[in-house]
Amino acid sequence: MFIGHFGVALAAKKLAPRTSLGTLVLAAQFVDLLWPIFLLRGIERVIIAPGETAVTPLDFISYPLSHSLLADFGWACLFAGIYKVLRSNSGGAICLWFVVMSHWLLDALTHRPDLPLYPGSSTFVGLGLWNSRAWTIIVESAIFLGGARIYARTTRSRDPFGSLAFRSFLALLFLVYLINSFGPPPPSERAIAIAALGVWVFVFWAHFIDRHRVVNAPPAEQIDLFPPPDQPQAP
Ligand SMILES: [Zn+2]
Repeated sequence: MFIGHFGVALAAKKLAPRTSLGTLVLAAQFVDLLWPIFLLRGIERVIIAPGETAVTPLDFISYPLSHSLLADFGWACLFAGIYKVLRSNSGGAICLWFVVMSHWLLDALTHRPDLPLYPGSSTFVGLGLWNSRAWTIIVESAIFLGGARIYARTTRSRDPFGSLAFRSFLALLFLVYLINSFGPPPPSERAIAIAALGVWVFVFWAHFIDRHRVVNAPPAEQIDLFPPPDQPQAP
């Protein structure tokens, strides 16, 4: 899955209004941003096998550190823990934990059974939505557009950049998604890793968007399930 993860990050802004969209995107894509590093270091493996599924020509031979359920759980705890220490925002940290975990669940929906439960596990999970290109695009686009709609309603532009950067972010992501879905297979495994590292651009872009938009409700009326202990509870 690709843009579906961004849909989760965009939607999560409603539950974590004080957390930057950049951090939410980083959380949603966290294990996909670790994966190319592990590939380049030879710790994990992927091969190009056209026809592997209707959508992706990639055969994920081994990726237990980035994409096993147990590893994702560990990354989610680490990510949320670091955020809590740096930002003292328990609600945001809990939301980020779920956003990191959502990556594995959404990948389990699309991948063929290649996601291990834990490193060394012989049980692999995957419902195989990627066997249908049409259904993959329908489901993933629905999550992406739904998330974009929630983010657009939760925030408003602070200046012209807020709207422009947000719209171009959505458009470029969708374009990249279509190129990935309909374009030729990548030329090499190394090219896959380099392209995957390019997703960092969207993390910084999302951070830029968030700085140029403001959450709609005034802070006192925001739904904050876990306010910091030193702040009075909103009525
Ligand atoms: Zn993934």
